[in-house]
Amino acid sequence: MPSIAAHLDTVLTRIAAAVAAAGRPEGDVRLLAVSKTFGADAVREAIAAGQRAFGENYVQEAVDKITALAAENAQRSAGDRLEWHFIGPLQSNKTRQVAEHFDWVHSVDRLKIAERLSAQRPAHLAPLQVCLQVNISGESSKSGATPGEAPALARAIAALPNVRLRGLMAIPEPEDDPAAQRRPFAAVRALFDQLRADGLALDTLSMGMSGDLEAAIAEGATMVRVGTAIFGARHYARPA
Ligand SMILES: *Cc1c(COP(=O)(O)O)cnc(C)c1O
Repeated sequence: MPSIAAHLDTVLTRIAAAVAAAGRPEGDVRLLAVSKTFGADAVREAIAAGQRAFGENYVQEAVDKITALAAENAQRSAGDRLEWHFIGPLQSNKTRQVAEHFDWVHSVDRLKIAERLSAQRPAHLAPLQVCLQVNISGESSKSGATPGEAPALARAIAALPNVRLRGLMAIPEPEDDPAAQRRPFAAVRALFDQLRADGLALDTLSMGMSGDLEAAIAEGATMVRVGTAIFGARHYARPA
């Protein structure tokens, strides 16, 4: 069975090819390794292969993993530390743990959640980097702000003191056909361009997963969130 290092290499090659095919500059797209349901040892293998940014969906599982890796992480130089991204549905009663342990949150879709994250972000940490999750195609997950509510919501989030709005995140319904995959990503990109034209300083489009990262990169993704293609199939799914 190919190792996590070999899988990572394959994914980075896919990303580089998609970036080149889109005529975008090398290094334009960051890889977030989605380690949900995999243990600290799997994360260590990815770290040994050079990966530093990890995405997690379940608060308690993530905090356990972050804590397990904290001592070795503290040994690394400041520019070489792990970066933890929360990408799952976020309930109000979990915002404090997320504000205390994560560097990024991609799944902000209501002002109340953003206000709590800002209020609960510890003063000694940098502002929490956040993306507004948008539901562009009426995804069945029901998470995400509608495109109509996104502009006012983005402006309100951008005004909070201890979070920094970086961009948009989307999880379109899985599609096999590449043209069908691109459509919702193009719509997210159009909304992103509109918000930037309105004066918001956004630089992040978090979209694309194992099965559709090429389509997302073709439509302007700057960060792809990849789990299965790196760590293998997930053998259990926890309730969100
Ligand atoms: C699980 C998950 C991913 C990774 O999906 P794969 O298909 O395993 O690459 C990406 N984004 C979010 C929000 C997820 O929950």
